[in-house]
Amino acid sequence: MNQNTQKGHPKGLYVLFATEMWERFNFYGMRAILVLFMTKALLFDHAFASNLYGSYLSLVYLSPLIGGFMADKYWGNNRSIITGGIVMAIGELVLFTCGTVYHTSPQLSSFLFFSGLGLMITGNGFFKPNISSLVGQLYPRGDKRKDAAYTIFYMGINVGGALGPFICGLVGDTGNPADFRWAFLVGGIGMIISVIVQKVFQQKYVRDPDNNLLGLVPASSPRKMLSPVIVILGMAFLSVVFIGLFYLDAKYNYLFYLLTACFVGIPAIVLTDKKLNKNEKQKVAVIILVCFFVIFFWGAYEQAGASLTFFASEQTKRDLGFFTVPASWFQSLNSIFIIVLAPLLAWFWIKLGKREPASPFKMAMGLLGLALGYLWIAYGVKDVQSGIKVSIIWLTGMYFLHTVGELCLSPIGLSLVNQLSPLKYSSLLMAVWFTANAFGNKLAGVLSALYPENGKTTTFLGYHMNNLHDFFMLFVFMAGIASLILFLLSSKLKKMMQ
Ligand code: GLN
Repeated sequence: MNQNTQKGHPKGLYVLFATEMWERFNFYGMRAILVLFMTKALLFDHAFASNLYGSYLSLVYLSPLIGGFMADKYWGNNRSIITGGIVMAIGELVLFTCGTVYHTSPQLSSFLFFSGLGLMITGNGFFKPNISSLVGQLYPRGDKRKDAAYTIFYMGINVGGALGPFICGLVGDTGNPADFRWAFLVGGIGMIISVIVQKVFQQKYVRDPDNNLLGLVPASSPRKMLSPVIVILGMAFLSVVFIGLFYLDAKYNYLFYLLTACFVGIPAIVLTDKKLNKNEKQKVAVIILVCFFVIFFWGAYEQAGASLTFFASEQTKRDLGFFTVPASWFQSLNSIFIIVLAPLLAWFWIKLGKREPASPFKMAMGLLGLALGYLWIAYGVKDVQSGIKVSIIWLTGMYFLHTVGELCLSPIGLSLVNQLSPLKYSSLLMAVWFTANAFGNKLAGVLSALYPENGKTTTFLGYHMNNLHDFFMLFVFMAGIASLILFLLSSKLKKMMQ
């Protein structure tokens, strides 16, 4: 049978599904309690915890640029995934130790905290881009099943994203700060399971359509780069670099400038290339514009692990009488809604047939979903005195709308970058997409630092925030204005894409 018309999926897809699911379990389980651990155990204030959260996540989106490069040039996907996974598991164990000693040795615990997160950044950089790239390699070029494969893989991400906060929240977010460490430990165990699944099943199942093993070391890689000593030393070196970069951003906030420079510099290089024709340049311009809007999307959306977790913890009625819902559990909602809504939305686009909107229009809808989510929660907290808790319907409804927004924007933006990039610049423009994600996450931390607490007034670009209503309205304006501009530009962008 011709492989392009084959039904079903290769078994390798399910191996990668399980590997990714356990890794996301570790990543999102840890993220669910991160700011709670910082504020309740390490006693950082909200603003400092928010800024650290933004620096951490921003670097999480930048490290894949190095991890992807190292795999393509030297180590291959498999070796990179396994090493990255082990480094993340070590990161969780370091955080576990931090959560054990924080009240007896504050200095040591700060060191362990930065080191643990730095290791998570490094490991993620090697794990995430390489596992995603293996999914596509399971199929022949142009195989129609590839889209479905990525959808199934995305479900794996979200099963992990739902279970991680749930289990880690259950064991770690108990009300006793000394228990946070168990969440790190459980996350680390999830990561070890992920590495074991990959190691045990990869040889047998992760193979291309001609049954050749995938993710091997590139033929051009110098043999000396593969010795275990070099791999260990290389990872140790990169870990020190990322721990340093993380620490320095916490102190000097340099990432904002670096990301702005990348965001201006890379497009300038591509757009001034005389070898690209007008049509190609127009397509590149669409990618860059879309990436620019994406920054505002993630800046508002990624409040989930920061200000929205403060809100869940401090201002949401979680006491059911017989049980208090952990604040971290709210971070499972997004993944649960994705699992439910993704098939519905896919069905909806098919149903629309010829009337299905073009990508920029869908992305404007994504930003609108986000603005509406914040409008919903801003309404929920209007006229509520500080310290009074509100119903869980406000956070839940908001996450529902945010998830609809995510489904309209995130997968669509990624495939738009893939489709429109001139071959010569495909990796560099993918890097712009990652840079936009990193920028958005950095912005998320900076904005979460404006969370109004104890009657303090915060200000952003001349806009004063005295209470939660004002704070949430900031995101309504930000996402709403971005959405409106993108709606207005969308028919022009559609023409430029053709
Ligand atoms: N939730 C998805 C993941 O963890 C996508 C996140 C993103 O692109 N910012 O892989």
